[in-house]
Amino acid sequence: MSYQDVQLHIDGKWRGSSSGKTIPVLNPATEEKIGTVAHADKADLDEALAAAEKAFKVWRAVAPFERAKVMRKAAEILRERADSIATIMTMEQGKTLAEAKMETMAGADIIDWFAEEGKRAYGRIIPARAPGVYQLAVKDPVGPVAAFTPWNFPINQVVRKLSAALAAGCSIIVKAPEETPAAPAALIRAYVDAGVPAGVINLVYGVPSEISEYLIPHPVIRKISFTGSTSVGKQLSALAGLHMKRATMELGGHAPVIVFNDADVDAAAKILSGAKYRNGGQVCVSPTRFMVQEGVYDKFVAKFVENTKSIKVGNGLDPESRMGSLANPRRVAAIEEMVQDAVGKGAKLQTGGKRIGNKGYFFEPTVITDVPKSARAMNDEPFGPMAMISPFSKFDDAAEEANRLPFGLASYAFTSSTKTATAIGAAIESGMVAINSVGLALPEVPFGGVKDSGYGSEGGTEAMEGYFNTKFITQTGV
Ligand code: NAD
Repeated sequence: MSYQDVQLHIDGKWRGSSSGKTIPVLNPATEEKIGTVAHADKADLDEALAAAEKAFKVWRAVAPFERAKVMRKAAEILRERADSIATIMTMEQGKTLAEAKMETMAGADIIDWFAEEGKRAYGRIIPARAPGVYQLAVKDPVGPVAAFTPWNFPINQVVRKLSAALAAGCSIIVKAPEETPAAPAALIRAYVDAGVPAGVINLVYGVPSEISEYLIPHPVIRKISFTGSTSVGKQLSALAGLHMKRATMELGGHAPVIVFNDADVDAAAKILSGAKYRNGGQVCVSPTRFMVQEGVYDKFVAKFVENTKSIKVGNGLDPESRMGSLANPRRVAAIEEMVQDAVGKGAKLQTGGKRIGNKGYFFEPTVITDVPKSARAMNDEPFGPMAMISPFSKFDDAAEEANRLPFGLASYAFTSSTKTATAIGAAIESGMVAINSVGLALPEVPFGGVKDSGYGSEGGTEAMEGYFNTKFITQTGV
């Protein structure tokens, strides 16, 4: 399977940038250059803006029923091409082939779900105070969208924004990740080949800050959606605020995991070690701060460490690998530094802690215990294959620690008591709480954070709301 150079998609055409500039793409498992991606400049962005403005008028006039047909066709094309798309995703991102295939197939399900949901933009009729008066709340598409997506889930991060926008009747400019450009381009190709009109979807790459600083204030753009770090999200939402643009922000997390004495410890350790090392821990909902009640602490640590040690790390293209390389050298450096900092402050390294080999961005699945709260890893999002486990004694202590950080994205609890489950679900300040499972992120359920983890949703009917304006019309007979 060869990796093709990645082009921009503007006004229905696949093409290089007007300057001819490109950016190299590396395989993180080998550090070899595998291709290039076109680097858009202002002239390309202006064309994308003009195309999105023109195509918005066309697409919003297409009936939701017809939009859904095109979208469902895109989902089918994506499924048909899933094997080859998964291979290029693994080559550019490092995750295992199985994970890349699952992400691609899940992307098709997301398209299907939003295709159907677009038909149900009902609005409502509000009873009037006088006869002959009709009061209507109708849902209008918000307008051309600018979406900025990261490298950890090259398809998933785009498909949620793109599909909700299209289902609502919006056009979109996607600024996809330069480090993992081919998989999102393949997703957009599936939409284009399914018959989405020219200009409805535009795809650009370049210098992220230059593109966002140009697109967000631009009068054509009516809504922005960003997934990435909290620090960048705050900058972009400030810019959006300055220009009164609607925004959805899906930012960082630092998910607490609370395992109570009455939990099924073996099951919890199995489910959580699977979740922790998925995509090398480069997941915004990855479980990170483990708090385990004293009665089961030793047992849980032993099981979790055993599961961690059994994970085979290797090139994602090798079917034997259960964890691939990290996506870029920044993650290796960050995790190495966080481990050293934690151990220097008194934490115990149970397993892992080092990069693997000297070629490719591989890092050992890592567990550290008894980590002081002053350690960097207990405060900054690790975003890598690193679990910190500490004991707790009382419910209130665990709830307080869960809420200590400014993040509030995902959280997890394991208990066999309905009373404890209800209490912890109510006590945790986060956008999502999973109890006795890690069942988040299905297309039909809300997905989003509170506090510094952002606002808005990327799943469920709530995700559609982000792409609608509510217009009130009152109508009286003449
Ligand atoms: P980063 O914060 O610079 O970049 C994160 C993403 O934001 C990248 O896709 C990047 O292209 C984009 N970005 C950065 N500056 C931008 C700007 N001014 N305008 C538009 N887009 C911009 O750093 P990074 O090294 O790529 O990632 C580091 C951290 O980002 C991670 O530790 C993690 O906390 C966070 N992150 C979160 C997610 C998520 O799913 N929420 C995904 C990727 C990264």
